[in-house]
Amino acid sequence: MTAADRDAVGGACAECGGPLPASGDCWDRVAELLEIETIVLDGGEASLRAHFYAIGAYQLQHPSRLTAEALFGLRDRVAQMVESPIPVAMLRREVRRRTRGTKVTSGTPGSRDHVPGAWPTRWSMTAADVVARPADAYVASVGEWAATTVTELAGIPAPRR
Ligand SMILES: [Zn+2]
Repeated sequence: MTAADRDAVGGACAECGGPLPASGDCWDRVAELLEIETIVLDGGEASLRAHFYAIGAYQLQHPSRLTAEALFGLRDRVAQMVESPIPVAMLRREVRRRTRGTKVTSGTPGSRDHVPGAWPTRWSMTAADVVARPADAYVASVGEWAATTVTELAGIPAPRR
C-alpha cells in the first residue's frame, strides 16, 4: 500500500498509521487477522508462533492499550522470538511467571501519556498490510511484521522505575 492509497481510504489509525477498516476502528483488524488464522493455521508450532507475532506486533503498534511496563516486556519478548524462537508453550510459562501481579492493560486506550515520545506512530508494515496479502502468505507476513516492528522499536530505552 502506498501513501496515496492510504489517504484515499479515508483516515489512518492514530497509533499504527495504517488505513482504517470500514468500521473506522483499527481494533477490528485483530478480528480480520484471527479470521485468516482460522483458515491457514493448523495449531502446530509455526502456527502458534505466527499467532504470537500477529498479536504481539499489533499490540506494539497500539501502545496506548498496554502499561509501559507491559509494553517494554512485550517488545523484548517479540524481539527474542524473532531472533531465536523458543517453543511458544515455554514462552507463555515465562510470561505468566514474569507478569504475575503486574498490571498489563493501561485502562485508558487511546491515551499515549505513558508511552515514550520516541515510540513510532508510522510503521513500515501494519495489520492492514498483512490482511491485504493472500491468506497463504500469512505465516511469512506476520513474521515479517513482527521483525520490522521490533527493528523500528530498537533503541528506545525503557522508562526508569
Ligand atoms: Zn492501528
